[in-house]
Amino acid sequence: MNEILALARPEIVALKPYSHASWDPAFERLHANELPWRAETDRTVAGLNRYPEPHPHELAARLANLYGVDATQLLPGRGSDESIDLVVRGFCRAGVDNVIICPPTFGMYEVAANIQGAEVRKVPLLAERGFELDVESIRRARDANTKIVFLCSPNNPTGNRLDAKHIEWVIDALDALVVVDEAYIEFTGSEGLSSWVRHYPNLVVLRTLSKAFGLAGARVGSLIAAPEIVSLLGKVIPPYSIPQPTIETVFATLAPAQLAIQRERVAQVRGERERLRSALAAAPSVLKVWPSDANFLLVDFKDAQAALAAARAAKLLIRDMRNVSPQSLRITVGSPEQNDRLIRSFT
Ligand code: PMP
Repeated sequence: MNEILALARPEIVALKPYSHASWDPAFERLHANELPWRAETDRTVAGLNRYPEPHPHELAARLANLYGVDATQLLPGRGSDESIDLVVRGFCRAGVDNVIICPPTFGMYEVAANIQGAEVRKVPLLAERGFELDVESIRRARDANTKIVFLCSPNNPTGNRLDAKHIEWVIDALDALVVVDEAYIEFTGSEGLSSWVRHYPNLVVLRTLSKAFGLAGARVGSLIAAPEIVSLLGKVIPPYSIPQPTIETVFATLAPAQLAIQRERVAQVRGERERLRSALAAAPSVLKVWPSDANFLLVDFKDAQAALAAARAAKLLIRDMRNVSPQSLRITVGSPEQNDRLIRSFT
């Protein structure tokens, strides 16, 4: 058994997965209790009267190609939210194991751990060092029952990338899974850590089509890890979990002409991020705009309540982050028109 599977819940390692109806498009299907006719409203190629592929191999292959990994290293899921849930369920024994998170960070790591009954240990990022990882405190916080360390790079809500050297230290130092959530990596203009999974059996990288690819409504995430982890969690994810319209939308969106458009849009968001940053930094109501590599900005206001109200008056929602600091709000980079409206509301 691969050493990493020794960290997983023994009952999941031993789990016999659901035996789904066989999948062979060369045959007509009288084995899955479906209706033989399509709904009038069905616009898909494959037909919604049929179950989608139980574990969509072509989808996995195309996503693997996008992220530069092997299809055996990638498990598609319904957004990174599902990947986070899967990894916690697969590795944490309720009431026994713990996970480490580094706040302020994305809220789902803690929620997934709470659902599973895993303890959550918090090692805050170092605000005075631009929300850097506190590697020493992570080492001190872990024990033999620490199964997962969640890192988010660029981090939501602070926007900064974590130093790759620090991530490497955590991966090397801990006998636990290190999950690096790269939901916003495309906005940094660099590659991310997917290629590292070849060398680090305890690394899991999460990618999503929800942000830079504009498919938040389709719900597609990718868990990238050693094939042993992918196979293990593939037993936990329900069969048919990715809907057919989503599969077909991804195929269309990953066509080369569409990818070129997507890259232009990411470049546009990066340009708007810098324009928004300078305009906000000059606004009298703003105390600080934190550096960001993502498609949002963490901004400290003199009066965060007044800033929220001003944005609402301009019919714009921004995110209350007063749990990070009493002045903090998070602002997603919008269209040029939306950004102009937001800037006007603060000046
Ligand atoms: N990770 C981070 C850091 C996020 O900010 C979000 C969405 N807010 C997610 C994951 C969830 O992504 P998905 O839509 O793929 O579930």
